Amino acid sequence: MSRFLKAQSISDRDIEAVVEVLQSDWLTTGPKVGEFELAFADFVGAKEAVAVSSGTAALHAAMFALDIQSGDEVLVPAVTFAATANCVVYQGGTPVFVDVDAETLLINPELLEEKITSKTKAIIAVDYAGQPCDYDSLQIIAGKHNLSLVADACHALGGKYKNRAVGTLAKLSTFSLHPVKNMTTGEGGVITTSDSDLAEKMRRFRNHGINSDHRQREALGTWYYEMIDLGYNYRLTDFQCALGMSQLLRLPEWIARRQEIATKYTSAFAETPHVEPLGVSSDVSHAYHLFVVHLRLEELETNRDEIFNTMRSNGLPVNVHYIPVHLHPFYRTRFGTGTGLCPVAEAACEDNLSMPIHPNLDDEDVEEAIEFILELLEGKPCLLIS
Ligand SMILES: *Cc1c(COP(=O)(O)O)cnc(C)c1O
Repeated sequence: MSRFLKAQSISDRDIEAVVEVLQSDWLTTGPKVGEFELAFADFVGAKEAVAVSSGTAALHAAMFALDIQSGDEVLVPAVTFAATANCVVYQGGTPVFVDVDAETLLINPELLEEKITSKTKAIIAVDYAGQPCDYDSLQIIAGKHNLSLVADACHALGGKYKNRAVGTLAKLSTFSLHPVKNMTTGEGGVITTSDSDLAEKMRRFRNHGINSDHRQREALGTWYYEMIDLGYNYRLTDFQCALGMSQLLRLPEWIARRQEIATKYTSAFAETPHVEPLGVSSDVSHAYHLFVVHLRLEELETNRDEIFNTMRSNGLPVNVHYIPVHLHPFYRTRFGTGTGLCPVAEAACEDNLSMPIHPNLDDEDVEEAIEFILELLEGKPCLLIS
């Protein structure tokens, strides 16, 4: 069943691209970094792309570029991977959790405005599961309150909103290139923006806050450099960038396959009241990093965890995305958050299931997953007698 588990696809051409760089003069801070940044920016239609060592580093760089600091508040959705909120804390700021829309599990613009205070500096919208948020509404709110809008687009590379590519919809958009994401460099991340000053600040941030890198100094024949900011070593290597360039070429085909699989799930689950896929806006082209369903089991003799365990033990790698961030022990302890803060997110975590979805799955695999869950639910008859 390993075909169900392995989400990444590495071709001979990918391997050749990496080997070529391994045999070259530059393993890091070399020419491939800029080439990958250009190719990535070109792919999403953004002016600038900045390559970093992970999606988490991308979020941290974004918070640094916006000068988030102690006393600042940043609005984040309750349903996301913890890194979305953690990046605010790295800068000394306070993440303020906003509940999500029950149908899409995207940040709820109506609840967003209630959470804005004089300390609020930014919004991080998360394109959960690969569905771009309603950026027009979010831009209006951000503009009205003078907030910076950041897109955590780690799920949504390859997606579109009103025919505009993900990566161009916010002031800063962040991506992850972890193997489970829509394309990979092993570990890796990218920030896209139309603001060249912010891009320069983030390129310095990934290199200790130093104003030149090794290769730039070599080209100038100088040893002198200055550290302008407190940065980190968040660089992406040249061989990872070579892998990224090669992977980008296949990304459109992978997104199309993810969408095809999603269509199969959607039509199969239309036949049962017990499996309800998340809502999808007609304004978007969904990148389907995840295919998430609500399980409606109120009338059945089972629960989500039983379904999860049975599928897992039969080699079907279902998952649950995510424990609401405000319920993690760190946030409860540090920020006093807890149950009741974001009830929609909390309820979703009880009835959610992520079905297997990645381009390595063939039609038979998808049908197997569908049949398995439908049969499982059929075998759990309703005991309620009306
Ligand atoms: C994967 C992910 C991240 C973090 O990316 P890494 O590359 O694993 O650091 C951040 N936010 C979201 C929504 C993610 O899915």
